[in-house]
Amino acid sequence: MTLSTSLENYTVWFVTGSQGLYGEETLRQVAAQSQQVAAGLSALPVRVEWKPVLTDSDSIRRLALDANSDDSVIGVVAWMHTFSPAKMWIAGLDALQKPLLHLHTQANVELPWEDIDFDFMNLNQAAHGDREFGYIQTRLGVARKTVVGHVSNPAVLAQIEQWQRAAAGWQAARTLKLARFGDNMRYVAVTEGDKTEAELRFGVQVNTWGVNELADAVAAASEADIDALVQVYLDEYDVAEELLPGAERHQSLRDGAAIEVGLRTFLEAGGFGAFTTSFEDLGALPQLPGLAVQRLMAEGYGFGAEGDWKTAILVRVANVMGAGLPGGASLMEDYTYDLVAGDEKILGAHMLEVSPSLTTQKPRLEIHPLGIGGKDDPVRLVFTADPGPAVVVAMSDMRDRFRLVANVVENVEAPDLPKLPVGRAIWKPAPDFATSAACWLTAGAAHHTVMTTAVGIEVFRDFADIAGTELLVIDEDTTVRGFQKELRWNQAYYRLAQGL
Ligand code: MN
Repeated sequence: MTLSTSLENYTVWFVTGSQGLYGEETLRQVAAQSQQVAAGLSALPVRVEWKPVLTDSDSIRRLALDANSDDSVIGVVAWMHTFSPAKMWIAGLDALQKPLLHLHTQANVELPWEDIDFDFMNLNQAAHGDREFGYIQTRLGVARKTVVGHVSNPAVLAQIEQWQRAAAGWQAARTLKLARFGDNMRYVAVTEGDKTEAELRFGVQVNTWGVNELADAVAAASEADIDALVQVYLDEYDVAEELLPGAERHQSLRDGAAIEVGLRTFLEAGGFGAFTTSFEDLGALPQLPGLAVQRLMAEGYGFGAEGDWKTAILVRVANVMGAGLPGGASLMEDYTYDLVAGDEKILGAHMLEVSPSLTTQKPRLEIHPLGIGGKDDPVRLVFTADPGPAVVVAMSDMRDRFRLVANVVENVEAPDLPKLPVGRAIWKPAPDFATSAACWLTAGAAHHTVMTTAVGIEVFRDFADIAGTELLVIDEDTTVRGFQKELRWNQAYYRLAQGL
């Protein structure tokens, strides 16, 4: 089964609330106008499907149950065109398990001041119909995103698109199977976590396979498949001379191709969308998987190194949320700093495993020794991430909950790095280096992150709201003092929110 990272097979339902009080003619107008509003959402990346106007409790509950049971439905957009007495929505909202967006809009943009009469007022009363709906959502504690404005406004569409992408990421998490090859790196704390809780909270199945099951799949790679993949490498990358066919180290490139063939075979056979490796547990693999991991991440797979399944989840989710957009998502690690005062930068990389989706340049395919792991020299793609806006997000297990910490950053131009043979990114964090790092450390955020250059912080905010997961954001508005207060408040809030 080939992994899908597209938004094409997803749908969002557009539902309109009203009531029987107004008569058939008004309800016909509500239906026609709500179809126009839904049509105004047709340019969004996830298809929006208009549903017939809802006017009573039974049909609202039925719609919620139908949305729950349809795997292609990733969310529901609701709008109260007229007045829909909100007790009608209690059973439905209580049953709904899909992400909800409350669109507070109106069919018209301008009021027809000259002609306005009370029929118009009765038809176009979302101004208070949606307030009734807001009340019941809040009273029931329903998580949702509220978007305000006319659908002809690009800012409204942008907010709905962010939510659609977050809902797609959520759907991807709910259906994700993650294969761990080997366990966590020995003695490391932050990559540990509660895998049972992860399945409950995010829907992700996290399970471990002995690395030699992967090594068997690698050993079974056919010469024909390896030949074909080597040709892909030659077409797509600037391949180092020593790795070319006939050159002295070509066998290492073939070994790298065999790892990719075996890994892909294993992942597709098991329906996996994410995986981890561990350099301490390579079994019979000839090299630490580098090139293969880089390419699979660029195709949409989630990956975490050293057994880090939490970051692997984030890479998969970010890949889905960014589907179809320029840029990409990758495992990243805060590695080392340039501490020139006022111009501080973070150099991020990993031993090998950074996704080439972060660059528009042609990566170089090279081979170099790796000081750890005790295996043959691994092949890897070497490049620098494109300059531009990015977000890094880490997940920590705080024992009673998962915590996401995000930093808004700017990838910058790299100087020549002739002796650094790995994929890397160089960035300046918001609001400044000292504030960013102090907040990051105070939050207990990890050294592994997902870096995405495809979506911004708002998509992660929506994802965290949908998931009911703590998210701490470090951006241009952050101060250390304010962030410390937020940490203390969250410590209380997230315990209280789980019930007393
Ligand atoms: Mn690492």
